[in-house]
Order: sequence, then C-alpha cells, then structure tokens
Amino acid sequence: MVRVQRQLLRQFIKTEDTQTARDQRFVASFESLIDLVSDCGRKRPKTSTAVRGVSLNAERKHGFCDLCGNLSEFSAFMAIVSEEKINDVELENRKKLELSHQYCNRHRPKLPNGEWNPVYRQAKRSLSQFEVEVARLSRQCARPSSPQAAASGDPLVDSYYYRYLLHKGVQPADKAALRNLARLMVDNKLSDTKKKMLVLLHCGFNQSVIASKLQGHGQKSLTRQAVSKALTSISEIFDLRKPNRHFVF
Ligand SMILES: [Zn+2]
Repeated sequence: MVRVQRQLLRQFIKTEDTQTARDQRFVASFESLIDLVSDCGRKRPKTSTAVRGVSLNAERKHGFCDLCGNLSEFSAFMAIVSEEKINDVELENRKKLELSHQYCNRHRPKLPNGEWNPVYRQAKRSLSQFEVEVARLSRQCARPSSPQAAASGDPLVDSYYYRYLLHKGVQPADKAALRNLARLMVDNKLSDTKKKMLVLLHCGFNQSVIASKLQGHGQKSLTRQAVSKALTSISEIFDLRKPNRHFVF
C-alpha cells in the first residue's frame, strides 16, 4: 500500500502539481497517510498470532536498523516469515532469538566469531551526525521548493540539500531511502564544508574563488590546494553537477 501511494504521489508531483494551496494540502494529506500506514505496518497488533510454528516474541520492536535504512535483523526475518518463504525446520536452525532487533545484518555489533564488528563501531561513532543528516533530509523533502528547509543553520549548507533533492520527488515517508542516503553521507565523510564547496562549484566558481569565499565562512585558512584535495575526495554521487549519478531513490 505504501509503495503504491508513494508512486502515485510522485506521479502527481511530477505532472499535475502546480503548488497551489489546494495542491499543497493534498500532498501534505497524502504524506500523512503514507506515514500512518507505514507506522501501522511496523506495529504488530497484540491479538495477532505469527505464522504457525514461529514462537518469536511478536512484541519485539519492528523497524529500521538504528544506524541505517535497512530493516533490523529481526524485522527483516519476520518479513520473510510472514511471506511464508521459510519453513519451521529452517527457523530452528537460525538461532532466531539471537537476531538483533536494533541493528541490520551489516551493523550487528558482534561478528559470528564473537569479535566486535568494525562497521558497527564506525557507524556507532557517527550516530549523532547520522541523525542530523536524517533530520535535515526529512525537513528538506517535506518542503522541496523551499531553499532553506533543511534548517542546518548555514544558508550554503541548506542550499546543498535543496539542490540535491530538487525534482527528485522524494517524500518524507521514503524513510528507508532517506536513512540510507544519510548513512552514505556520513560514511563518505561529506562534511558541511564539503557541501558548501559542492554548491559553489555548482554555481561555477573555480577552486581559488571557492577557497576565498569559504574563508569568510568560519574557515580560517583555506588554500586552493586544500579545496582541490577535498573535492577529489568526494564521491560522484554527491556532485551537484552530475545529477544522473545521484543516489537512486
Ligand atoms: Zn544498518
């Protein structure tokens, strides 16, 4: 249901939407509805019984990994079970109670051999930055036509989110995609300074001008070489000049 609604909404925004007050109300209502349905989808009613043969604790949290947009191990597992793609024998072999209800398979804290998972540790260290990115991306796609909607505190940084998400038709309800994009930004160390550089580059400024412009923006000493080095370290999917290489929603 969420998938169909999202598709229809995206289609409406790309074709019919003229940003009138009525259209904006329609889009907002649609978004609330999508949000409601996806929240209901993650909650298992108390009276429901899981597929026969499955004795997993149905009260355990259903939802996203704390660190990205994938389902937690437990939720992903329950999704497979509910589609009846697994039989009881397989269930027994899966050490089902050891599944994490907080993290996905990639971000589980311990590896099967009992050692700490370095991917988990790295993601955990950047948890607050990840949450900042999720919040900014969500605010921006709730008001895609507003250049300051991300509300990062810096107009140039806001401009990055505005330009990156413009005409993508992404909705705040596309939670999985937004969380995955936020994780990608953090893992790729796309700092606010780098976002400002990308915006200025997109506006047609060369590296020397970018360096001098950013110096007045809280950067004490920034050389052209430093800008060049920073820009080459950025993955193409974040480059505003190459929208066809962007993250696919
Ligand atoms: Zn994860």
